[in-house]
Amino acid sequence: LVRLSGVNKHFGDLHVLRDIDLDVDKGEVLVVIGPSGSGKSTLCRAINRLEPIDSGTIELDGEPLPEEGRALARLRSDVGMVFQSFNLFAHKTVLENVTLGPLKVRKAKKADARKEALELLDRVGVKDQADKLPAQLSGGQQQRVAIARALAMHPKVILFDEPTSALDPEMVGEVLDVMVGLARDGMTMVVVTHEMGFARKAANRVVFMADGQLVEQATPEEFFTNPRSTRAKDFLSKIL
Ligand code: ATP
Ligand code: MG
Repeated sequence: LVRLSGVNKHFGDLHVLRDIDLDVDKGEVLVVIGPSGSGKSTLCRAINRLEPIDSGTIELDGEPLPEEGRALARLRSDVGMVFQSFNLFAHKTVLENVTLGPLKVRKAKKADARKEALELLDRVGVKDQADKLPAQLSGGQQQRVAIARALAMHPKVILFDEPTSALDPEMVGEVLDVMVGLARDGMTMVVVTHEMGFARKAANRVVFMADGQLVEQATPEEFFTNPRSTRAKDFLSKIL
């Protein structure tokens, strides 16, 4: 579904993505793990073209990523993104946050957008918060709204960039539970996270990134019990 071939990206002298080859299959849950600054966020941002790349190709469904215009807007709805910092629209209600994209980009009818948004809010367990503003919700609730907002666009894949690392510990579980549910329902997901429990429960594959390279790929079981590279071993010994 998503295919990266020979992808390189620099920020000035810094080579942040080095010859990345990566395939994500339909329905696959890929967990990306690695030290701070290794390029995980840049990788996610490249996949929905928030970040242009210097060389190589990225394809979605066999098509190269579009550069601009309407095709780029369609790409942004095909590739959902959930960030560490929720990024909800602060002055819109929870319901409006979820209906905005469908109304603007998918040209959905108002009644349909509202109905589906309420169903999605129900699915992530915050339907009773629909008329509140984001600031009136807990972090865990806000992040679940952000997931509902991504789902409302009917994405082909959702990228999660450390979706639980800004949350108080007691709220991490409720967000991971929603993500595990999505994984079970067959959503294609790329998830940057150090939550081993999630990786073990939901990931088909773990990719370890360091210094802009994909150093190691394995099943969660293999990776966490028997990492092959020294760097992965070092990293795991620090986080576990
Ligand atoms: P973290 O775990 O801290 O989120 P990361 O693996 O997501 O790290 P990236 O955010 O992708 O890492 O950053 C990779 C490198 O690129 C870092 O050294 C970072 O400082 C640098 N970088 C990221 N964005 C920019 C930018 N817009 N301009 C210049 N340098 C950048
Ligand atoms: Mg990051």
